[in-house]
Amino acid sequence: ETYSNISNTKMNSPGTGISSAASPCRRLEGKVAVITGGASGIGATTARLFHENGAKVVIADIQDTLGQAIADELGENVSYIHCDVSKEDDIINLIDTTISEHGILDIMYNNAGVLDGPLGSILETTKSDIDRVVGVNLVGALMGAKHAARVMIPRRKGCILFTASVATAIAGTASYAYTASKVGVVGLAKNLAAELGQYNIRVNCVSPFIVATPMSAPKEGDVPKVEAIAREMGNLKGEVLKAEGVAGAVVYLASDDASYVSGVNFVMDGGFSVVNPTLM
Ligand code: NAD
Repeated sequence: ETYSNISNTKMNSPGTGISSAASPCRRLEGKVAVITGGASGIGATTARLFHENGAKVVIADIQDTLGQAIADELGENVSYIHCDVSKEDDIINLIDTTISEHGILDIMYNNAGVLDGPLGSILETTKSDIDRVVGVNLVGALMGAKHAARVMIPRRKGCILFTASVATAIAGTASYAYTASKVGVVGLAKNLAAELGQYNIRVNCVSPFIVATPMSAPKEGDVPKVEAIAREMGNLKGEVLKAEGVAGAVVYLASDDASYVSGVNFVMDGGFSVVNPTLM
């Protein structure tokens, strides 16, 4: 098909000009998605946007009250499952329950994350804190991907996503466990994209700059302070990244519009990593 044929097809298609059957607001119509860390922040915002786009969403988290409340609010196509991603048995239960309820898994968004304890010198960094952070952010994401791949490979179809962080691009933050876990996630995503391409499974990650969520702004009234820091530090002046912005990118990467996008670390940092020392 020549370019002019493609553009003619689009121009001749009724309505929006988008050639696929899905309307631009229902980009994930009928797809089944699991979101870990879906009870709060970026995960919860993404759960809402996935739902708006027509997906069936399984929210997985350890904050049961919050997660169940979002599922109840959004209605029948959204459910909540308790899942501690640092426990492989919980992940197996999450994936197997999703398959028994919906029959398929199209999108696995490994998003659950935790931060290091108080930041300081490497000399104050404890093994138990490293184990905790790496256990959730990296091992949890790896196990999520493994058990998603287990059910996606036989279908020869699927999309695996991760939330890494622009922390992968910043040296000198003293967040040793967090940085190591997120650099690991980017490497993991690329390695998985290479292996799983033969099964038509796409693997990508998003790496956001600072977003005011309960992780970065845990206390009442923290949001304006965190957004002020983000404005001050950021490269793109006058703008802050919101959870909605990240969710929008995740919807795109999960949709068929991104059907030839795999192995990408989608950095959302307003250009920060272009002008600062980077780790990757
Ligand atoms: P958040 O704290 O609002 O959400 C994280 C969610 O993960 C919470 O609901 C939490 O209960 C859940 N979670 C924690 N441990 C878990 C476990 N063991 N099993 C299952 N769920 C668990 O924070 P957020 O900012 O929305 O973070 C989402 C992701 O985005 C994280 O991976 C984080 O590292 C990443 N991120 C955040 C920022 C930011 O500035 N907020 C920037 C870059 C990347």
